[in-house]
Amino acid sequence: MTYEVTLIPGDGTGPEITEATRRVLEATGVGFRWHVRQAGLEVLDQYGTVLPDNVIESIKQTHVGLKGPITTPVGKGFRSANVALRKSLDLYANLRPAKSYAGLRSRYEKIDLIIVRENTEDLYAGIEFQRGSAEMDELVDFIGRTTGQRLTKDAAISIKYISVPASRRIVKFAFEYARANKRRKVTAVHKANIMKFSDGLFLQVAQEVAKEYPDVQFEDRIVDNMCMQLVQKPELYDVLVLPNLYGDILSDLSAGLIGGLGVAPGANIGSEYAVFEPVHGSAPKYAGLNKVNPMAMMFSGILMLRHLGEREAADRLEAALAGVIAEGKSVTYDLKPRADDPTAVGTSQVADAIIARL
Ligand code: NAD
Repeated sequence: MTYEVTLIPGDGTGPEITEATRRVLEATGVGFRWHVRQAGLEVLDQYGTVLPDNVIESIKQTHVGLKGPITTPVGKGFRSANVALRKSLDLYANLRPAKSYAGLRSRYEKIDLIIVRENTEDLYAGIEFQRGSAEMDELVDFIGRTTGQRLTKDAAISIKYISVPASRRIVKFAFEYARANKRRKVTAVHKANIMKFSDGLFLQVAQEVAKEYPDVQFEDRIVDNMCMQLVQKPELYDVLVLPNLYGDILSDLSAGLIGGLGVAPGANIGSEYAVFEPVHGSAPKYAGLNKVNPMAMMFSGILMLRHLGEREAADRLEAALAGVIAEGKSVTYDLKPRADDPTAVGTSQVADAIIARL
């Protein structure tokens, strides 16, 4: 079977790691027809946007995307192409596994966490009121009238928006994932003791959904306690489900537990479409140098293989990556004991070493 996949190389170091990932995926023997679509800074002049419509249209046709990182120009009035992509395809679940492999430099062993982050709302909904705007003044007046709290207008407000439908579908996603992947427990993370309405609603929905999955254990943790627990005894946890902001922070914390961004994969999944991408950004200072680690994108490719139902190829590719990591020879600078280690290899040599093991 040949899979139609939209391939978005991105910018910065994106094209190099995408090429390395494409090569190892093809070397598994699974057939792909790549629909290559450009997004990012390189197409800004041509299309007037970092995310041209043809990228979205292609994913609507193929239903699956594999994406390199895209730079978000700072202070140029552009919204992040990554956020726009997630919104326009309603990719509501951000799946970020954090798994230890022998040979990764980390203080921890045997980490095997799955972070399920809500991707569409919370403080990331983009509902913000700028200091000095008429809307901000009006909102402060409204808050004064309805709550009695006299706030200064010399301020700004971002809205934390948490809905029942979005909470329900993300918690269901976490339980369905747990069931399909034989995981034992789902932990809902929140701050419902302080944000009784917004986080309280998330927790209440999670407790309701949990009743539909009696075969999977359920518990909840307050987010600050969760951070401490992850640092002290991460082995107690399995699948974590979180609203957007906590999910963003704890998934980076979890990436830190396993050895860093160079090996942290991600997937953005909706009911119709899925886009797989590394957690890290475009690392533009290394662009074109054949230097950065392609493994985070390769692990994202493994998530894609599993999503496509190609479990055997996914397991084989994962074993090949694990072998190269464990051997510690054909790895990039970030996986060496010192960043200036002269034996570090380049992006494409990592792909060669993995292909040699497939
Ligand atoms: P970054 O992840 O690009 O890089 C930070 C540092 O991490 C790098 O300087 C490098 O030392 C290290 N690093 C990152 N990826 C690596 C890899 N594959 N191998 C080895 N080392 C690696 O973060 P940043 O500098 O904050 O962001 C750069 C740009 O990327 C920004 O414009 C940001 O908005 C964008 N970004 C995009 C995505 C995405 O496309 N999903 C995600 C995060 C950031």
